[in-house]
Amino acid sequence: MTSTLTASGPLAENTGACPRCGEWAMMTPLGVNALSRLSREPDDDSIWICSDCGTDEALEQHFCMRITPLWEWPMPFRTFGQQIKTMRMSYSAMVFRGEEDNDSE
Ligand SMILES: [Zn+2]
Repeated sequence: MTSTLTASGPLAENTGACPRCGEWAMMTPLGVNALSRLSREPDDDSIWICSDCGTDEALEQHFCMRITPLWEWPMPFRTFGQQIKTMRMSYSAMVFRGEEDNDSE
C-alpha cells in the first residue's frame, strides 16, 4: 500500500481520511470504524476514527490516563503506533500460519 496523500482542503465527513491521524484509513459505513473516546458523552457529536486510532486511544486511556485531545489532531504519529504495528504484524503472522496449516494435506 503506497500512500502519498497530503492533507489538502477541509476534511469532509466521508472523505475516508481519519481526523485523528490523517491517514486514508476510514471505512464505510462509518459504524465499522472506532468511535473516539472523546465523543462518548450523550451530548457529544460522534467522532469516528480509524480502528488503529481507536486502539491507540484505548492504550492511551489504559497506560497514560490521558487521551490526546481534539485540538492536537491530526497527530503526527500515534502514541502507541509502534506497538500497534507490532500487534498487527503478529496477528498477520498468526493468520498466515493458520493458512499454511490449512494448505497441508
Ligand atoms: Zn486514525
